[in-house]
Amino acid sequence: TQAQIGVTGLAVMGANLARNLARHGHTVAVHNRSHHRTKALIEEHGHEGDFVACETPEELVAALERPRRVLIMVKAGAPTDAVIEEFAPLLEPGDMLVDGGNAHFADTRRREAALREQGIHFVGAGVSGGEEGALLGPSIMPGGSAESYEALGPMLEDIAAKVDGVPCCTHIGPDGAGHFVKMVHNGIEYADMQLIAEAYDLLRQGLGRSPAELADVFAAWNEGELSSYLIEITAEVLRQVDAATGGPLVDVIADRAEQKGTGRWTVQIALDLGVPVSGIAEAVFARSLSGHADLRAAARGLPGPSRVPAGSVGEEFVEDVRRALYASKIVAYAQGFDQIGAGSAEYGWDVDPGALATIWRGGCIIRAVFLDRIREAYEAEDKPVTLLAAPYFAEALTLAQDSWRRVVAKAAELGIPVPGFSTALAYYDSLRAERLPAALIQGQRDFFGAHTYQRVDREGSFHTLWSGDRTEVEA
Ligand code: NDP
Repeated sequence: TQAQIGVTGLAVMGANLARNLARHGHTVAVHNRSHHRTKALIEEHGHEGDFVACETPEELVAALERPRRVLIMVKAGAPTDAVIEEFAPLLEPGDMLVDGGNAHFADTRRREAALREQGIHFVGAGVSGGEEGALLGPSIMPGGSAESYEALGPMLEDIAAKVDGVPCCTHIGPDGAGHFVKMVHNGIEYADMQLIAEAYDLLRQGLGRSPAELADVFAAWNEGELSSYLIEITAEVLRQVDAATGGPLVDVIADRAEQKGTGRWTVQIALDLGVPVSGIAEAVFARSLSGHADLRAAARGLPGPSRVPAGSVGEEFVEDVRRALYASKIVAYAQGFDQIGAGSAEYGWDVDPGALATIWRGGCIIRAVFLDRIREAYEAEDKPVTLLAAPYFAEALTLAQDSWRRVVAKAAELGIPVPGFSTALAYYDSLRAERLPAALIQGQRDFFGAHTYQRVDREGSFHTLWSGDRTEVEA
């Protein structure tokens, strides 16, 4: 029998996706650069379905039915190019090469264009959900040609997570669209994690609650509108006791947050596209700040607030923080979806944000009840320009805003850093402002650089003769 799909790269992600495919009744040809991984997969999991173990790329390609589908699950970057170079000469027009790694979308665009010349469909597919998702049902974001999705989609939808029977996989758009949205997904994930961490810090420092007590708070929050995978695992992490010290595990974990780069890419690209993703940016900067041992050591002795009013934080703070967290989260997601809209417009992808919200409801790290609300907002007759103004979110923000303001003010008073909460509130207040001080900035720019400005009452560009008699001239 010929295999329906081949998987090359059998570390955790590739092995689990291959097993997931086999468990769904597909015959899967498997290959890895070092054959021991292939052998281990067959020995440990060969009984789970039909696998064809291959020692070389040639063997893998020969094992596949036409058109061939080869899923690459290797380290992103140069290794992916190396694997493409190995496989491309063995393939024929109409075959599909799928990259499920965390590639930069610009690399995917380059690879897609090069392989298209050979008639090969190159599909950059974002895969979210980590190891467990890969095995039990990830969220899959395939880009590439619509034609390739016809041949590949059903198989990917088979192995994807399902929510209300709907698969967490859909064709995102041409060339790099899939990897682009996966990148922004990760950026949103950074923001969400930062906001949750700030909520924890506020309640821990502000109310003096223990991690175990806070685990109960997060578990309770997980029953309501904040219900999500990240809130759920936050409760688990806070409840964990360290075997060595007998204290909370979170207290013995070094407070330096690491990153692999997709959050940073999101911000870099957002700067290029001119999209204000301040929530994601603050989350990336907060991780980077946490790792600057030198800066933190040098600043450690600096004073905090001199007068903290005793008993200024009461029980009601818990609900205030919950609401502030929800409002800030709405902002972070709104910004992420704006970036996807901007990327889609820039590269002509025609990404459907409602479909994207639908496939993020399950399988991926940011899965949340909340994504159903985003899906509804984008499926409505009146497409929102910003999610903040969609009726459901506008109402949620209205309900939350007093709490949100109290929390940010209290954090400043207590000296608890809340970059995520405060940048989200500043974004909200900036967007809804009647007038922004950008007018003054335009005046300054015109003063020192004759950059000109526009007026609210007349068409045209104007310049004031700042170093002359200060009359205004039309530029
Ligand atoms: P790794 O990223 O650790 O990559 C290891 C695999 O890459 C091995 O199969 C290795 O082969 C292969 N490899 C490395 N260099 C080469 C090369 N030059 N030629 C051929 N093969 C090479 O594996 P993961 O399973 O963690 O991730 C796979 C991909 O999925 C990555 O792009 C990752 O970013 C992405 N991803 C990972 C997630 C996760 O939670 N881990 C989630 C979503 C996506 P060998 O055994 O011979 O060394």
